[in-house]
Amino acid sequence: MTIGTVTAGPTASGPGGPGDQPVGPAGPLAAAVALPPRAERAERASAAADRLGAAGVEAVAVTWVDNAGIARVKAVPLGGLVHAAQWGVGAAPCFDVFLADDAVTTSPVIGGPTGDLRLYPDVERVVPLAAQPGWAWAPGDRHTQDGAPHPGCQRLFARRMEAAAAARGLGLLAGIEVEWVVALAGDPQEEPRYPTHGPAYGMHRLTDLSDYLRDVLRALGEQGLTVLQIHPEYSPGQFEVSVAPEGPVGAADTSVLVRHTVRAVSARHGLRVSFAPVVEAGAVGNGGHLHLSLWRDGRNLGHGGPGPHGLTAEAEGFLAGVLGALPELLVLGCSSPAGYLRLVPSHWAGAYQCWGLENREAALRLVTGSTGERAAAANAEVKCFDASANPYLAVGAVLAAGLAGLDQRRALPPEFTGDPAAAEPGTVPRLPASPAEALAAYERSAVLREALGEPLYETVLAVRRAEAEQYAGAAPERLVAATRWRY
Ligand code: GLU
Ligand code: MG
Repeated sequence: MTIGTVTAGPTASGPGGPGDQPVGPAGPLAAAVALPPRAERAERASAAADRLGAAGVEAVAVTWVDNAGIARVKAVPLGGLVHAAQWGVGAAPCFDVFLADDAVTTSPVIGGPTGDLRLYPDVERVVPLAAQPGWAWAPGDRHTQDGAPHPGCQRLFARRMEAAAAARGLGLLAGIEVEWVVALAGDPQEEPRYPTHGPAYGMHRLTDLSDYLRDVLRALGEQGLTVLQIHPEYSPGQFEVSVAPEGPVGAADTSVLVRHTVRAVSARHGLRVSFAPVVEAGAVGNGGHLHLSLWRDGRNLGHGGPGPHGLTAEAEGFLAGVLGALPELLVLGCSSPAGYLRLVPSHWAGAYQCWGLENREAALRLVTGSTGERAAAANAEVKCFDASANPYLAVGAVLAAGLAGLDQRRALPPEFTGDPAAAEPGTVPRLPASPAEALAAYERSAVLREALGEPLYETVLAVRRAEAEQYAGAAPERLVAATRWRY
């Protein structure tokens, strides 16, 4: 695959002029993705720059996550932050068709060597990086040169879906668990060598790496994140951290920040990390489980209702929509072909399209929490996703599928208790076992096509097809080796 030539596609262009005013059609979804007036952006960026300067920041890294799930970056010196907030930073449209190994494919609508987009740092979210002294980080949104929302911007898509929920009076809390494998720094061609050989979930591992894990906690805390838990996981060298839930776009931002913080702390300890779906062929992989709860008027809709385990009708409809759409959602939540090596039975990855209370083999695990805390704690976990996903696409697509289920007042099928792998064959459907199967479901999904909008829908399809082709028929070891250090 080489750098392809494609037509720069149609971009949504609004009537409002060169970015001084919000542009594009009116309505709550459009308002959610419109740039605020330039003077307001300058004022906020200037206040942020003062704060950052006082904290010793010299430069700001602005990231976006591409359709292959890779966070890409443009950085500006602190003195350039106000200009970046006013005018954006240049970013080529062809980034939309990058693959995880930096090959570039083509899409009929977005990409190509010509054109320019503007990456705008979200200065509301900018934060000094505790493990990268002198640096701050901000997630970015991409707009066209005339200030209109870029139809291929994944973060703006997540914002639109959050606004679609808000337009129904619904709020969401989301959190993405981060699992990683830590190895000794070395040649990227090498098999991983681990800094600890302690058992799964073992205190032994925490003791071996206690300075490192304390520094991870310290850095996350200094960056304003509330850590809920950190612990060794099942596979060699594997750990997990979870942080407090927040709004869907915020949760996607946080998952980018957490991963890069873990990576930076690891580097300071002579270690490197992999968030790839699978680090050793055959082993339990790294998940990127998405927790979600639905709220209305300050009330958790996953609790106190007449449905299964206290679900309200709205929460049940939402979850039924998500459960039914899981095959096509894998295209957005399990990006890499390597994800299908992780998504296998008996790996706690949720390889079956079923739901169950606290069932770790079900793709949709219902969590009610303990007696006494349920009104706050009840939530659902999408287990089949991994960290090769673009988190903005993953949360946005789950919202789209959930809202469609809620609007259609769908009901959940019967709960599955126990291990689906031990059930009578054919009783519980397996999720797609290959990118091709997931893509076939995606191509049938009118809900995702409409929610993503044609340009983003088509570009995701192009990237996913190209990656599937790259590794079609590859031995697991080759696929794992090719993806291990990319995520
Ligand atoms: N590592 C498992 C996965 O691939 C998940 C383990 C857990 O349940 O936390 O998703
Ligand atoms: Mg885990």
